Amino acid sequence: MEEKEVRKQKNKKSGVSRREFITGAVGSAAVLGAVTALAPGVAAAAPIGERTQVLSTSRPSAPLVSITKDAAATTTSWAYSADVVVVGYGSAGAVAAITAFDAGANVLILEKTPSLASIGIANNNTDQTAISGGGGNSHICGGLTFFCLDPVGGALWHYNMSFGATPMAVSQAWANMSVQNKAWYDAMGIPYTYSAATPEYQVTPGASSGFATCTVTDGGAGLFYCLDQMVTAQRSIPVLFNTRGTALIQDPTTREVLGVQALQNLSQVVNIQAKRAVVLTTGGFEFDATMKLNYLKCSPYHFGGWQYNTGDGIKMAQAAGAGLWHMNTTSGRLSPWTPNYNTAWAQHHANNAWFWTDRYGNRFTDELQTTGLPSQSIPSHSTWQAVVDWNFQYGEYSRVPTMLIFDSTTFNAGPAVGAELPNEGVTPQAGSGPDNPSAFKVLGSGTPVTTFFGTGIDILPAQFGGTGAGGGFTGSAIGTPWSTTNKAELAAGYIISGPDIPTLAANIAAATVAGSNLGMAVPPGWNSAESMDNVRLPGGTSCPHYSAANLTAAINKWNADYTAGNGDTAFGRTQATMAPIQTPPYYAIPIWPSGPNTNGGPIRNERGQTCDPYYNPIPRLYSGGELGSVWGFLYQGGGNIGESIAFGRITGNNAAAEIPWTS
Ligand SMILES: Cc1cc2nc3c(=O)[nH]c(=O)nc-3n(C[C@H](O)[C@H](O)[C@H](O)COP(=O)(O)OP(=O)(O)OC[C@H]3O[C@@H](n4cnc5c(N)ncnc54)[C@H](O)[C@@H]3O)c2cc1C
Repeated sequence: MEEKEVRKQKNKKSGVSRREFITGAVGSAAVLGAVTALAPGVAAAAPIGERTQVLSTSRPSAPLVSITKDAAATTTSWAYSADVVVVGYGSAGAVAAITAFDAGANVLILEKTPSLASIGIANNNTDQTAISGGGGNSHICGGLTFFCLDPVGGALWHYNMSFGATPMAVSQAWANMSVQNKAWYDAMGIPYTYSAATPEYQVTPGASSGFATCTVTDGGAGLFYCLDQMVTAQRSIPVLFNTRGTALIQDPTTREVLGVQALQNLSQVVNIQAKRAVVLTTGGFEFDATMKLNYLKCSPYHFGGWQYNTGDGIKMAQAAGAGLWHMNTTSGRLSPWTPNYNTAWAQHHANNAWFWTDRYGNRFTDELQTTGLPSQSIPSHSTWQAVVDWNFQYGEYSRVPTMLIFDSTTFNAGPAVGAELPNEGVTPQAGSGPDNPSAFKVLGSGTPVTTFFGTGIDILPAQFGGTGAGGGFTGSAIGTPWSTTNKAELAAGYIISGPDIPTLAANIAAATVAGSNLGMAVPPGWNSAESMDNVRLPGGTSCPHYSAANLTAAINKWNADYTAGNGDTAFGRTQATMAPIQTPPYYAIPIWPSGPNTNGGPIRNERGQTCDPYYNPIPRLYSGGELGSVWGFLYQGGGNIGESIAFGRITGNNAAAEIPWTS
């Protein structure tokens, strides 16, 4: 039996009807039946409201689009109409759409990027070839889905993780709904591996109350395959690809959100009516340099992931009056970054002969403490907090970039980067840019694809020049971005070396560190704002203060501590996680605040409504997912997908329950 059929059978056998399972609806939704009411697209929508929208193809220069409800009902030219319009087709959008549909609303999804299927793009497994498109970070993620088992303890823990930046009512909503994540996967027939989970941060009150994860089979690709099947095959919910939401259409008096203005195929402005509500699920601002510079706590910050997440929905919500929260919170690690792919990579340590230094050659932390779990070699999702340290003398962040230091035993033991989790996929980017998703189509032409990004970059599919699912690194193959031997990266200058420690330190000091410098080649098609990501920090680009004496002292102490057998007496790294750094040549890789994603965005209440700065809901506007995530300050691995499921359901139900403003 084919896998698709297996999943359908599982759906039938679950014993829980989807409608019975829905528990979060507020009020009763009028049942409008399946989606049939889509008006055919008009050639060009008439300008509406008091101001005419001026849209460029490069950035959403989106003023508030205002129009009274009466005028909207009678005079506005709507290219499309639905009860609930979902903007952004990742996991949060898909779950909101599925839930709203199952609650009786007709639903329309807008997605900025072209359909992957129509242009023949596949990912790391056969499932992915069937995905109709979109997917965002959701389809390249690890599929780890975190949730609590005890809603009371879970809410307390979640609230404390945010240090109060998330109101308790929202933490309670997260806890009450996330406790059902596993049951929802069961009801929907989404396959997973279940295990009890220990939170990354044990000191947070409530951390011992019981948590678990479901890791979806085939990771994010598998998850989005299932969601996409539910959206398109099982419910026939229409998805408008190449349709970028640019502004909310809003009654200026009541502030009710009546629809969305969007740009189709990079050129056509269309008005899309939302009779009940709009749900914003456009992801974060990982690839908007200006927002990163303004909102994140240090700079530069280099993400891996879906480059079309440029904060569009955040700006749309702001223009409609939303307040912002959690803007400085990321799921953020320290990662190597290379300009040729504009991607962050996951650190991979093949042995224990490594540590980190600041820009001056000094160690500054127990590197493994920042993993949260001693057994992990990847720093935890809040490691970025450890590098927020501004040096007033030099006018620079003293730990940005941090230097990953290792010797030849590590260098020779395998690639210095790796996937965070098995099954993390890749995302094509050749020729495309955040503001030009149509360049995506280049990939459909059969042209060999040579560039990729995504933290799980070692799982290149065969058709893109890699070895296929789980194949690891192939070294010389076209499309393989990091070599098995690290030698290509050494030659390219991404790895710095020296025959001895003082020479390594001198070479670090002299290096032009890609990512913080002037003169970095900006990939063709990249917009100018993105190049601000590489803004030169005061103090220069070349780590001019990196000290041979400091590095020598740090390595000598490390080795002496190791030999004494009592572990790292400077920062507390355990003996079992140490090995001597003593075999020349020596190496360094700059590692940056990075990570999968941002978590900031519009304020959300416990009903999933988007709120103004005073926590008053903006009528008929909802949000979900990493756009204004409910995670504040500290982030828990698996929390984003867990939230997409939980708040996707909350927002979907409540959006569907709105009384239509027009017939
Ligand atoms: C490599 C990697 C591994 C990860 N692993 C995990 C994990 O294992 N567990 C976990 O919990 N989290 C993980 N994350 C984070 C997680 O994937 C995301 O936070 C989550 O998928 C966000 O879902 P979303 O639906 O909010 O956004 P996305 O899935 O990013 O979807 C947003 C969608 O909106 C579209 N869009 C953007 N702007 C517009 C616009 N103007 N109009 C229309 N559409 C628009 C985008 O193209 C995109 O398709 C990982 C992330 C990465 C990059």
